[in-house]
Amino acid sequence: ALRQAVERSELRVHYQPQVSLNGDTGLSGFEALVRWEHPERGLIDASEFVSLAESTGLIVPIGLWVLGQALRQVSRWRETRPGVTVSVNLSARQLADPALPANLATAIRDSGADPGVLYLEVTEDAVEKDPELAGRMLAAFDQLGVKLVVDDFGTGHSSLQSLRHLPLEEIKIHPSFVSGLGANPDDAALLGALVELGHALGVTVIAEGVETDTQLAHLRDLGCDGAQGYLFSRPLPEEGVLALLGAGSN
Ligand code: C2E
Ligand code: MG
Ligand code: MG
Repeated sequence: ALRQAVERSELRVHYQPQVSLNGDTGLSGFEALVRWEHPERGLIDASEFVSLAESTGLIVPIGLWVLGQALRQVSRWRETRPGVTVSVNLSARQLADPALPANLATAIRDSGADPGVLYLEVTEDAVEKDPELAGRMLAAFDQLGVKLVVDDFGTGHSSLQSLRHLPLEEIKIHPSFVSGLGANPDDAALLGALVELGHALGVTVIAEGVETDTQLAHLRDLGCDGAQGYLFSRPLPEEGVLALLGAGSN
């Protein structure tokens, strides 16, 4: 059915706002998240079908399609909001695709977007699966001028030694470190340490899964650079993003 979904154009991309916590809280960009608009079941989240797409290899064409969509959208958004960026997730299976750098270069060229507006998110585990290959891939992306992000930071098995040698721009801290903020003092200490670790590595630190004002207040205190989560917005369809950008403030 997933294979047919691709052919029948049932896939969609939703975009979740990411906000900056440095200075005034404001919109900094959007993360592209794939969705399946199933004719009977309705809208299905990525968490329910991305692992299937990975094991079948379908994530390679799907991922390329998402990249193209995200690049087209960000070019459009930047007409009204020049600073805005877009983040796209890449799975281990995509990192192992030797054609990816060339396909990425073509997608960027076709969209007319500045490569620096594109952030590519990879998990620690995708990097550790084959560090040498990942290192080469990420170096190729860096050459193209795109920005690199480690997603779900703190949950994987990467060594600091390998991370420090990657050309990283940003780390995104997994929601499990955010959820206890305000309830459990250990969590604040741990999150603060992760922020300092990120800053020592010279990268921007974003907290994911922010759902409450209490969590946000702690993140500000701990010096976290940015945040994403239901507190600000759920992932939005194209029209929702345009409405948000058109709304002016933030
Ligand atoms: P991720 O990249 O870590 O994305 C964040 C996930 O958390 C998204 O789930 C998002 O909808 C959800 N989320 C955002 N804010 C909150 C919050 O405040 N609370 C809670 N409980 N959840 C929140 P989603 O869209 O189901 O995606 C799941 C994972 O699937 C993503 O995790 C990413 O690893 C993968 N994925 C999504 N789209 C793509 C894609 O186009 N390509 C690839 N390769 N992977 C994708
Ligand atoms: Mg992500
Ligand atoms: Mg994540």
